[in-house]
Amino acid sequence: MELYPWQTELWQKVADMRSRMPHALLLQGHRGIGKLHFAVRLSQSLLCEQPLPGHAACGVCQSCNWFQQDNHPDFRLLEPEDVESTADEESSAPAKTSKKSQIAVDQVRELGDFLGLSSHRSGLRIILMHPAEALNLASANALLKMLEEPPPAVLFLLVTHQPQRLLPTIRSRCNVIDMPLPARSMAETWLAAQGVQQASQRLAYAGGAPLTAVQEEAGADKRLAELHAMLNHGAQMDPFAAAALCVRDGVAEVVSVMQKWVYDLLSLHLAGQLRYHGLQAESLQGLAKRVDLAKLLDFQRTLDEARRHAQHPLNADLQLESLLIQYTQVFSTTSRP
Ligand SMILES: [Zn+2]
Repeated sequence: MELYPWQTELWQKVADMRSRMPHALLLQGHRGIGKLHFAVRLSQSLLCEQPLPGHAACGVCQSCNWFQQDNHPDFRLLEPEDVESTADEESSAPAKTSKKSQIAVDQVRELGDFLGLSSHRSGLRIILMHPAEALNLASANALLKMLEEPPPAVLFLLVTHQPQRLLPTIRSRCNVIDMPLPARSMAETWLAAQGVQQASQRLAYAGGAPLTAVQEEAGADKRLAELHAMLNHGAQMDPFAAAALCVRDGVAEVVSVMQKWVYDLLSLHLAGQLRYHGLQAESLQGLAKRVDLAKLLDFQRTLDEARRHAQHPLNADLQLESLLIQYTQVFSTTSRP
């Protein structure tokens, strides 16, 4: 994968250090700007046997092959490992709680073996730690010992968005590289090229971090699918449960989703066409056959009214319940052929 466009300038600076690379780099910056991506690309480039001009990895040498198969003998990625919560085997709870929160001291100690070997190819070995703030006190101290007496030809690459959570003694032994937020115009252009709608607003909401903006949009799409699944239940929907589910989306958002939904119900019922929900055509057609036209038109007016006042709902729960009850009632009890 290519670098993100906002990283090329920093890339030149860092990759130019390859002949005099310090033994530890700390990449720090805002979450959602591609720090890990940068660190992985840098690792591949430093291990590559015939890097291209501009220090990009060649992608075809033995080293690059290993790297691309997550199989490079001179590279280690340390990330938090699964910490199973104290096992309780008698309860067969479906939600098996495992959390990934810490880089354990054993993970760091095992590096001792890795560092004891000689390198397989270029002479360099790289240890990438992400996120470095996941080091706990014990693992941080184990790492500190290695940083105090760095083995030759080893690069420790630490990635963090919370450098203040690292031991100051670790920070001070690293060459710190600040990764800035991308320039807004560049990030917006990039987001738009990824097909992100309303790139400017999304970026602002994500605090200027473009990858966060992309993730949030993906989450919003998923949420929309959930709301549609809820509406798809028609008369069988439980309006109280549904209101509880969607209250966190806000009245304005839910009303806007319902307005489009009702528009298509009406359009299908009257003209056999739809405008917004091409992907749900089949289920909407089923629902459209069962609507009571007068009640649906009433409901459409109610939604328009709710939309006008949605910015200041006195009681979002009650308002959503009332709207969703009315929604379940637009379907006639007997289905028409
Ligand atoms: Zn290569």
